[in-house]
Amino acid sequence: MPDYDVIILGGGPAGISSLLWCRSLNLSGLLLEQAPELGGQMLMMHHPIADYPGLLPGNGRELRDHFENHLRQFELEWQTGCHIESVNVAGRTVSCNGRQFSAQALIIATGAQRRRLGVAGEEEFRGRGVSDSATRDQLMLAGREVCVIGGGDSAFDDSLILARVCPRVTLIHRSSQFRARRVWMDEVFSHPRISVICNAEVREIIGNQERVSGVVIEDAETRAVRTVPAEGVVIQIGIAPGTEFLAGQVELDSDGYIKTDQRQRTSVKMVYAVGDVTRPVCLSVATAVGHGAIAAKDIAERLRTTSVES
Ligand code: NAP
Repeated sequence: MPDYDVIILGGGPAGISSLLWCRSLNLSGLLLEQAPELGGQMLMMHHPIADYPGLLPGNGRELRDHFENHLRQFELEWQTGCHIESVNVAGRTVSCNGRQFSAQALIIATGAQRRRLGVAGEEEFRGRGVSDSATRDQLMLAGREVCVIGGGDSAFDDSLILARVCPRVTLIHRSSQFRARRVWMDEVFSHPRISVICNAEVREIIGNQERVSGVVIEDAETRAVRTVPAEGVVIQIGIAPGTEFLAGQVELDSDGYIKTDQRQRTSVKMVYAVGDVTRPVCLSVATAVGHGAIAAKDIAERLRTTSVES
């Protein structure tokens, strides 16, 4: 017999919701999280959260605390700091920290991580001017000339946040097509302290011993290279799914997100995927939580009918 009804990989809101719903549906569950603490991308939300029904947390960490307390109240089983050595998706076994666990069903809730530019200086100057959150780091960046990299909502939102405390903000984007919402674009393009550079690829982030001093960009058309002075650089170029460990085992889309149907079923029997790892239409805690409920419900139904039939 497998050790559990369900093993859940990932301890963000989708994984946590899955574990809670397993309990409600009388399924034994184990949640494994690689990071030292639960929360996933909730821990990257540094602003007040106004659209999660019933709670008005000051930031994602506060929301995570509510979720974790909920798990504790029901004495559910989870482990953090898990080094996942291997996952046999079809066999529904997971090797983690030298132990092997098996289950009747697997829920993959490994989320998505921030994309990296992959240029020199990006990691070197992290914490010395390079940031991935204006909300969190605005005090560190206040009073400085800054660049924001990206063309989506996050880059535009961060540019507007920084323009309140910085004398000059330069938004740098690799094309002239933006993903950001119209209202933020209008505000950014007309803001007296924000300038926008389009069609520019970041080649390097430079600086001295102490901190960042500029961003080297190359014009996508003319190939001219120049340096934009900056004492702070906020990189907001979206997220990518955490699915490398699944390559060849489950069907992924061209960007590496797991393909699912409406019940969160993947291409492999009794294997589900929930939350950001599935590229939901609306990236949000609420969507992730809903996915967890759907997957657990479908698993419970399948296990019930299987045992009735056998
Ligand atoms: P996004 O919408 O995926 O935008 C990412 C941006 O980064 C795109 O403009 C993309 O350019 C660019 N990019 C990607 N890879 C790059 C690379 N290697 N080098 C340079 N540029 C690169 O990501 P996001 O802005 O983080 O938003 C993610 C989701 O969160 C969205 O659904 C958004 O609506 C949501 N969000 C909501 C709020 C809010 O409601 N308050 C705030 C922030 C974000 P291309 O277009 O050329 O690919």
